[in-house]
Amino acid sequence: MPAAARSTVPLIVSPAPEWPHRVLDVAALRADGWRPTPFRDVVLKVHQRCNLACDYCYVYEMADQSWRSRPTVMEEPVWQAAARRMAEHARAHDLDTMRLVLHGGEPLMAGADRLERLIGDFRRAFDGRTRLDVQIQTNGVLLDEPMLTLLRRHEVGIGVSLDGTAEDHDRRRSYANGRGSHDAVDRALRLLVEEPGRASFAGLLCTIDPDTDPIACYEALIAYRPPTLDLLVPHANWSHPPAMSGPTPIADWLISVFDRWYSAPRREVAIRLFDDLLALVLGGTGRSEQVGLSPVAVVVVETDGAIEQVDSLKSAYEGACATGLNVLDDPFDAALSHPGVVARQIGVEALCDTCRECTFRDECGGGHYAHRYRATNGFRNPSVYCADMLKLVGHIRARVLADLHQLSAAETA
Ligand code: SF4
Repeated sequence: MPAAARSTVPLIVSPAPEWPHRVLDVAALRADGWRPTPFRDVVLKVHQRCNLACDYCYVYEMADQSWRSRPTVMEEPVWQAAARRMAEHARAHDLDTMRLVLHGGEPLMAGADRLERLIGDFRRAFDGRTRLDVQIQTNGVLLDEPMLTLLRRHEVGIGVSLDGTAEDHDRRRSYANGRGSHDAVDRALRLLVEEPGRASFAGLLCTIDPDTDPIACYEALIAYRPPTLDLLVPHANWSHPPAMSGPTPIADWLISVFDRWYSAPRREVAIRLFDDLLALVLGGTGRSEQVGLSPVAVVVVETDGAIEQVDSLKSAYEGACATGLNVLDDPFDAALSHPGVVARQIGVEALCDTCRECTFRDECGGGHYAHRYRATNGFRNPSVYCADMLKLVGHIRARVLADLHQLSAAETA
């Protein structure tokens, strides 16, 4: 590979936290019969830089600064190795589907030619036994008609980040000069609202801000008729707590949106966080990283080929995502034994005592793993948003139980 593509990032530049790195005994788990869940999603960091400077970004504005010393863009030998490793993983575990998520930084900054060659190489690496879904998560600024045509040709689903109304979006998601990006994102979304672009629209992703009007935000988002909506809680942890006013501002904001969404006369959009919580309240399983106890089956490949854990951990400490592995030398299976990966796959066993005894244990699942971090002991803590989770899950459970009660009363009447 080109020398420039190798990162100068040390494998782990902060001391590994006690939990899980120095406590979790992966060999003992395996001896007891536990088996890892294969990766289903590979997040590929095709470009390391971004054309926006969002104030809450965990890649550039939080603890981990490894982006500074990685290659700016992923080179061909690296993505070809990643494609081979992904196909090898699919074969080894006989997977029917895998998903490639093109990510950054801003992935469209990689350029049309590079993206076309990259997607083609991944499609060719798969032999047809496993279906390869490809998605891109973009800030939308560079999404124009030629780019959309290219992505449609390669059947790439397009997810766009949008933080609500133009005013709210521009306050958080601006260019480095402070100018807001909403106009550019709106132009991109208009391409996705109508056919032929609509078939490529995978959904919107919104990082919530409890200081905004939740209903105005929700209605601004659904105005683009997204098929799915991801509402993300801003990353924070016990060592870097959220700077918010009031005891439960996140829960209050989310409950307002939930009530508006749940009470609508027709289903307006799939909201992954709420769909998961409804499924979990009814005893099912969720798919979101934010709630529940399902094994996390996502792995990240950085521009230098480094195999990493989910990059929301960059909000915790420098080097938090590192596994010490690289697609140029290692299979994805090797990452399935990393304590940080295993800790996301063992459900209740990874929780602290407070969460284990919590009445909402199975629904909340301790909250987002990144939000449990405390510098003194690692990730075996309740979520820093615990009070919000108690209120949110309690509210959703109460509404569902009230509806079930009403239904059964109507049936027996
Ligand atoms: S609500 Fe709090 S104590 Fe309960 S599982 Fe979630 S983080 Fe843990």
